[in-house]
Amino acid sequence: MRYASVVIAAPLDKAFDYEIPLEWRGKIQVGNRLLVPFGPRRLAGYCAGLKEAPDYPKVKPILDLLDPEPLLTPSLLELARRIARETLCAWGEALEAMLPAGVRGGTLPGKRLVARLAIPPSEALARASDLDTRAPQQAKLLRRLAGPAEAVALSQIGPQAAAAAKALVAKEWITTEAVEAAPELLLTETVERKVPLPLTPAQEQALAAILPAIEAPAHAPFLLQGVTGSGKTEIYLQAIAKTLARGRQAIVLVPEIALTPQTVRRFKERFESVAILHSHLTEGQRDSQWRCLRSGEAQVAIGARSAVFAPVPRLGLIVIDEEHEPSFKQQSKPRYHAREAALWRGQIENIPVLMGSATPSLEMYQAARDGAVRRLLLPARIGESPLPHVTLLDLTEEATQQKGFHLLSRPLAHALEKALAARRQAILFLNRRGFATWVHCPRCGESLRCRNCAVTLIYHRAKKLLQCHYCLFAAPLPRECPTCTFPQIKLFGAGTERVLEEVREKFPRAVVERMDSDTTQARGAHREILDRFRDGAIDILVGTQMIAKGLDFPNVAVVGVVCADTALNLPDFRAAERTFQLIVQVAGRAGRGGMDGRVYVQSYRPRHYSVSCAATHDYEKFAQEELSIRKDLRYPPFARFVRILIQGKDEKGVKAQAEALAAWLAPNPKAAAAASPGGAPEPSPLEILGPVPAPLSRLEGKWRWQILVKMAPAAEVGWLSGLPKPKHGIRVDVDVDPLNLL
Ligand code: ADP
Ligand code: ZN
Repeated sequence: MRYASVVIAAPLDKAFDYEIPLEWRGKIQVGNRLLVPFGPRRLAGYCAGLKEAPDYPKVKPILDLLDPEPLLTPSLLELARRIARETLCAWGEALEAMLPAGVRGGTLPGKRLVARLAIPPSEALARASDLDTRAPQQAKLLRRLAGPAEAVALSQIGPQAAAAAKALVAKEWITTEAVEAAPELLLTETVERKVPLPLTPAQEQALAAILPAIEAPAHAPFLLQGVTGSGKTEIYLQAIAKTLARGRQAIVLVPEIALTPQTVRRFKERFESVAILHSHLTEGQRDSQWRCLRSGEAQVAIGARSAVFAPVPRLGLIVIDEEHEPSFKQQSKPRYHAREAALWRGQIENIPVLMGSATPSLEMYQAARDGAVRRLLLPARIGESPLPHVTLLDLTEEATQQKGFHLLSRPLAHALEKALAARRQAILFLNRRGFATWVHCPRCGESLRCRNCAVTLIYHRAKKLLQCHYCLFAAPLPRECPTCTFPQIKLFGAGTERVLEEVREKFPRAVVERMDSDTTQARGAHREILDRFRDGAIDILVGTQMIAKGLDFPNVAVVGVVCADTALNLPDFRAAERTFQLIVQVAGRAGRGGMDGRVYVQSYRPRHYSVSCAATHDYEKFAQEELSIRKDLRYPPFARFVRILIQGKDEKGVKAQAEALAAWLAPNPKAAAAASPGGAPEPSPLEILGPVPAPLSRLEGKWRWQILVKMAPAAEVGWLSGLPKPKHGIRVDVDVDPLNLL
């Protein structure tokens, strides 16, 4: 082929044709990174296809082939295109987002020793059997090299691999070679290997449902629903083992916050080469993980959202744990949801996608009801621990019974006392950082607000500062009201710091610590607090949702939710769903590992179905209630939203721009057609809500207006890419299926 079509890694939506110079004909493949002339510039792009004849008569030649191997697989190129189409960004932008910065940029320092077979794999396997008793390390290395990865770094196999490799090189069965790479490869920490557990009948059934799709392989989406501790992870592990046994690789997506050493260890105990992708990696580390995945050397990729782009050569399964987590949605361009991206990739690569949750998103629940996703249920916790008993406490009532201001109701305080006396531990959860969330003057009624954002300032006692949680604004607490000089301004609303203070006052002999993003900023701080909690050095841990996920500490006797309805009043149609999910998740921290545990949920609205259903662990009832409301109001999953956010420093300009966009949207005939595929029977399938000021009407000094476009659930969104360009100084962000409506 003499021509290549090239996607430039920039906000451009199409591929451009270039001529392949003679020296690279036959070498350049789809996915290769190339240097091409683009106007007066030289830019990096990706080969998206090869052709005999260009679309235009005059094409320029490719300047350079940037890597010997293609960085992207054809599937990833296609996935980028799909993401661009569905989230309304350019193909090149979606491609860029797939690649870690280091890989995009160039090559890496350092060398590592890599081994390769010098004999056919079948022969290697036969010789490995002969070596099993005499030289087990050599046998292991041979088997590894006969596997899907052609070359394997020795550092990755274990401390004895180098000696084994030397012996095998002497026999001329393998060769070794020093290659360029970052010094740190796959995580070298050695863990004890564990074998798969014999499955319970419910697990057996669930796995059996998934297996045919793994074996085929074929695309099929599964929703594995089971409370925490019901054995979902064990199913992921065994499904992955089956995938690897077929010579394919697997990707596991977990919320960033749940990407704890504890989670990762469970995968490393089962699989030899696990690559971890998370935001705390250095560029070099991220890069080397990525390359190990690209070469097939790493068999399993675990990571947050962007791990859905792990460039493994033969993907066989994608697992998404905690499918309902909002952190799977990226809040900047490309605004993809990792769950949706995984489903698209599953279609493109024709492989199963396994989604798990204790509290499935209503989107997936409805998809299961519609038959688009197969739901598999794990009905109970494994082993001795039943679900913890939950006591609901009405904070309004409690306030009338206790003098003064208390964050802990008497039953919760009493339970903590008992737990401490029995030398057990407790977790207290409040989803707000800081000391006071609202600083208010009782005389003039003013509260202290951020000067850049339409929010109140939060008082942080440890730092002795008033802080805005949205921008970086901070100021000391004034002695008097800035408006009326009244000398006694008051602190209202409580965050984790205040809970900490009250608990320390009430239990002076207990060790009480706080875990939230203020106390875990330093690298390793997160792990250190958890290690101390596990070792029993901390009696009571107070924290935000950081402590709600994935923690499994058997000695926790009491879990307290200090205020269950902090999220319930947010102007967001998912407020009830979030509230329900959070309470269930926090409650799941109690009564693990065969020990009993109790949960106390304090709430001002204990009768709200999101709180009461969480207290009875009743997902079905919650989902029914919530879905019937969503259906009446025509909210997702019964409609599709696109949010258009208009921001700028000039308030009038923002408003005018918002109005202009709304005027373009309303009568758009293309819109109406696209918005109701197949002429959906619903009344007015296309609705334009707004323009109105966004709930957060000002942020970081910018005014914010929004328009919500409401369409039928399966509506096309492509027509929205034709939105007129905004005026200078105004920014317009289009978010398809937004999770954040503030
Ligand atoms: P989930 O992912 O749903 O929270 P896990 O897979 O982590 O559940 O299982 C919860 C606990 O039960 C873990 O300690 C796990 O080792 C154990 N477990 C899971 N499956 C089995 C099984 N089949 N037999 C015995 N123990 C199991
Ligand atoms: Zn601010």
